[in-house]
Amino acid sequence: MIDPFGRHITYLRVSVTDRCDFRCVYCMSEHMSFLPKAEVLTLEELERLVGAFIAKGVERVRITGGEPLVRRDVMTLFEALGRRIGTGGLTELTVTTNGSQLSRFANELAAAGVRRINVSLDTRDPDRFRALTRWGQLNKVLAGIDAAQAAGLAVKINMVALRDTNEDEIASMLEWAHGRGMDLTLIETMPLGEIGEDRVDRYLPLSEVRAKLAERYTLEESHHKTGGPARYVRVAETGGRLGFITPLTHNFCESCNRVRLTCTGTLYMCLGQNDDADLRAAVRASKDDEALSAAIDAAIARKPKGHDFVIDRNTRAPAVVRPMSLTGG
Ligand code: SAM
Repeated sequence: MIDPFGRHITYLRVSVTDRCDFRCVYCMSEHMSFLPKAEVLTLEELERLVGAFIAKGVERVRITGGEPLVRRDVMTLFEALGRRIGTGGLTELTVTTNGSQLSRFANELAAAGVRRINVSLDTRDPDRFRALTRWGQLNKVLAGIDAAQAAGLAVKINMVALRDTNEDEIASMLEWAHGRGMDLTLIETMPLGEIGEDRVDRYLPLSEVRAKLAERYTLEESHHKTGGPARYVRVAETGGRLGFITPLTHNFCESCNRVRLTCTGTLYMCLGQNDDADLRAAVRASKDDEALSAAIDAAIARKPKGHDFVIDRNTRAPAVVRPMSLTGG
């Protein structure tokens, strides 16, 4: 699949549920309304959809959400997709999780063929963790990370960098993650979804974070790539990798290779734009994949050049009203 700007689309993110057991303050409002179950595709329908993308050239699939590991029977999807690794084009199956259910599922994920996972963790302070996630328990997540490493999964920690919130913990997170053999990726907060608070106050440009870290550490350019949008440096003092995802200070759309499928079968060709394609209708209309394949082609032909996120005091509304938990982070 090649889009109008010559970009090869080889990476599919699949949000398998919009539900989550946390309510992170920058992601969701406290009282969210979720999709009615009837609108959500079955795991078999999701597998068929993902299969259609693999047949059209997708090599990497990341399962996300909401919290993917709270969807009932989600392991059957991992097992079904895992069986396709190495046959027919799929090279990698990964997951992004908040870690709350990892103690339970780490071994099954590894057995299904998952080799790397991303765990979102913004703080290692239990009180802060509770304040940021509203509902989460840090000890469960830390136990989940232990279980994942014990199961042989490579773990990358994703940390959304937030001014006056976890800014002062970035260096200690880096030392902790690298000390345990995990990469750390920092993420700028993006203007997605109504969250009931002003994003300007928490927005922290990573250019600023990087400059501060560079006073304390030697940051060596790295060409490491994972298929995602992070740019990496190697930290000489720890020997570990540090990634930066900078949708605001440095837009990375020119190398975008991704599209995002939601649990209702809606395809978003860009995280930061509103255009979408309904693939559920195509899946349900026919048992063969001809209409589905045509619908995917039509969507890829409309993939926009990029997003135009802005966070400032004059731009109150989010760039996109749907939250990250719907589109899949
Ligand atoms: N529940 C899973 C998790 O916590 O990783 C997967 C879904 S979550 C939406 C994926 C990632 O998106 C998390 O790392 C989360 O911190 C991040 N995220 C959510 N809203 C965001 C926003 N407005 N800006 C930047 N990152 C955001």
